[in-house]
Amino acid sequence: MHEPTKFRLEARPTLPEAIERLEHLANDLFYSWDHGVRSLFFRIDPVLWQKVEHNPKLFLRRVAQSRLDDASEDRAFMGEYRRILSSYDAYLEAEPVPEVLEALEPGQDLVAYFCAEFGFHESFPIYSGGLGILAGDHCKAASDLGLPFVAVGLLYRQGYFIQTIDARGHQVARYRHHSSDELPITPVLDKGRQMTISVPFPGRDVVARLWQARVGHITLYLLDSNTPENSPEDRELTLQLYGGDSGTRISQEMLLGIGGTRALLALGIQPTVWHINEGHAAFLVLERCRMAMADKMAFETALEAVAASTLFTTHTPVPAGHDIFPRDLLSERLGPYLEQSGLALDKVLALGSKNGDQSFNMTCLGLRGSRFHNGVSRIHGQVASEMEGNIWPQVPAAENPIGYITNGVHVPTFLAPEWGSLFDIQAPSWKSELRNPPFWHFIDQIPDYHYWSVHKALKQQMAEFIVRRLQSQHQRNGTGHSVTERMVRPLVSSGKDALVIGFARRFATYKRATLIFSDLPRLEAMLTDPERPVILVFAGKAHPQDNPGQQLIKVIHDLSMQPNLIGHILLLEDYDQAMARRLLSGVDVWLNTPEYPKEASGTSGEKAALNGALNLSVLDGWWGEGYDRSNGWAITPRDTRMDQEFRNQEEARDLLDLLELEVIPLYYQRASQGYSEGWVNRSKASMKSITPRFNAQRMVMDYVESYYQPASKQGQRLKDNGGHLAGELADWKQRVRASWDGVSLNVHDCVQACCQWNTPVDVAVEAVLNGLSPNDVRVECVVNRECSGTFEQPGPDTFLLEPAGEENGRTLFRASIKPPYPGLQTLRLRMYPYHQALTHPLEMGSMLWA
Ligand SMILES: *Cc1c(COP(=O)(O)O)cnc(C)c1O
Repeated sequence: MHEPTKFRLEARPTLPEAIERLEHLANDLFYSWDHGVRSLFFRIDPVLWQKVEHNPKLFLRRVAQSRLDDASEDRAFMGEYRRILSSYDAYLEAEPVPEVLEALEPGQDLVAYFCAEFGFHESFPIYSGGLGILAGDHCKAASDLGLPFVAVGLLYRQGYFIQTIDARGHQVARYRHHSSDELPITPVLDKGRQMTISVPFPGRDVVARLWQARVGHITLYLLDSNTPENSPEDRELTLQLYGGDSGTRISQEMLLGIGGTRALLALGIQPTVWHINEGHAAFLVLERCRMAMADKMAFETALEAVAASTLFTTHTPVPAGHDIFPRDLLSERLGPYLEQSGLALDKVLALGSKNGDQSFNMTCLGLRGSRFHNGVSRIHGQVASEMEGNIWPQVPAAENPIGYITNGVHVPTFLAPEWGSLFDIQAPSWKSELRNPPFWHFIDQIPDYHYWSVHKALKQQMAEFIVRRLQSQHQRNGTGHSVTERMVRPLVSSGKDALVIGFARRFATYKRATLIFSDLPRLEAMLTDPERPVILVFAGKAHPQDNPGQQLIKVIHDLSMQPNLIGHILLLEDYDQAMARRLLSGVDVWLNTPEYPKEASGTSGEKAALNGALNLSVLDGWWGEGYDRSNGWAITPRDTRMDQEFRNQEEARDLLDLLELEVIPLYYQRASQGYSEGWVNRSKASMKSITPRFNAQRMVMDYVESYYQPASKQGQRLKDNGGHLAGELADWKQRVRASWDGVSLNVHDCVQACCQWNTPVDVAVEAVLNGLSPNDVRVECVVNRECSGTFEQPGPDTFLLEPAGEENGRTLFRASIKPPYPGLQTLRLRMYPYHQALTHPLEMGSMLWA
């Protein structure tokens, strides 16, 4: 007898009229940061809410009709429903903040933000880790501030993988298909049909459908190749995030950059600023050049006009984060597009070349196609300036145009609602004071016992969550019941209130998840001290092709099962945003031990700090700026010229010393009230110093002031009058490039060795300009103070030299300079090409020293 055929039928409930706007709430990612909205769904059916993994749209399809009917007749529920809807409506009606209106003009200015992943919420799994969460937070803060802003990305049907860890500690990656009606998106319609765009690929056009997701005030547009116009293979192009080979990756990036730009055009959206968030989206530069060339601009002019309104943000020094494609692959894939566009292959290849390699580097394309560039912390800004210095070969890295804006996190998303309620009582306007550090001194006014009770409650919630997750994961793996019991015992034995240290993020090797195990006997003694127990909680995914990353998971798994350590090392599977919120608001200490300087920024420690956890981290990324001696603990990275093994050992010893001598003793210094006053003080110092500095509103406002406003202006300036200035600039650059090799600079007469303080000295140089005019260059004297007993190295002062006629076919430049410093100083003279239409004075990357 064969199995009877089964038909699946989903009988969807009808929303009662009284609560019909739940449908709106389920279709606005506002729910991803508003706990009130999520609590409505939870109240209707808590069990189902868990089951559908906090997915409001799926919830509304599966919930029993009777639950909805009951809710709509429940006075308490309806009161809450109305309160939340009115706060939602108030949010949508709010005007942009004044600082945004000073910098940008809504209706005129518009920022388009392109990224390969967006992490808004666990119900919308089109992110893999930090980059995606950051992009989600950027959009959320843009909405909070009222920025004129649209975002563009790809819709991955299977998103990133779901992780299980089997009984042997092996990571198993599974993918789950998400249909569009269970995601918070709607089709973009044009005359009743879903809009599509297409991009030329070898032998065919690939079509992408357009979707939109509402994020409060802003819209995210997503492209999806899963449409019947495409071949079966092409339909799978946007199936997975970071799946497939480099052919898949380049195709996805063509859809994102070229297709995304076409989508905005098709929608009649005209951005004035284009933000390329990491190299994956850099092809947008080509498409915008194509559009400008269709307006009769030469390629070089088009590139100037396009780049002037473009910002490129680089997010990691780690090679895996930079797409590098073989040239052959690039010319094969991009060939038909370039042909149709009139873009010359060799010119495009030149935009992506690095040090003459035979490959195409998307980071280089992003940098050459933009005139504004940044890294994501002070340290990373410097590292990126060095790494990408080849773009400006003659300019010292410290002076090249790569700046930085340190990442921040979206407070409403990551702050536990329990803290929010406490702030509401203590300082009701806190939500509008996220960029005002002095305001946050109110934290000190919170009574210690009250402060600690909030932390304890959150820690308790986390413990229950961890126990549930461990039990289900070990039950599936067939772990013995008694083993699982022992595993959760230290966490749940409430008498001890063990110190809990969390470590959760992607398992990339540079993050050194296993550094803490470098001296296992010493660590074991600390963890299992019966009077002062410590528990380490780990979670994270390793990319399915990253075997060393998966090996880290296995090492931690094996340790977590050792009888002598059981219960003191816990490994949770399937880290996602929901788990992040639980762990980050429940742990006592958040640990991060990256290999300096590879962390770029890191953001999870910022989320932990908002919630009162103390950071114990290597001084890299954001912590290099955040740590102030009173608000956590720091591991000083060893000199990067030392070998890695030695650095690991030394830094691991620092970590264990800190734990043994500072962290554990402080935590267990409990007086009769049951908590450590010293700990609470440190935690308050952390919360109040970090929250107002490392949040996404501060970050986005920095982008507005440092980049979006200038890029909008500069873009307009070069584009006006049919790109007149862009054309002039492009011609000038070509002229300078052709002459620069024959240009030289020499000191005219030596500077006197000694002068009286406060009297000027004369400096002069003579230049061979090789056909350039004195107006095409700037000559500067750079003065540095010599170390005079202090370690302080003040930045250089520069003085401009003026043209002073010709002598023997050489152009003289002179200045009379008052020494800026008393005592010893060094003077150096240099020349670089200069034009008033440049965005950054050193953007050509040319410079000569006398
Ligand atoms: C914040 C966050 C990250 C980034 O963590 P880092 O420690 O900064 O690398 C990754 N995944 C999730 C789910 C997060 O919430």
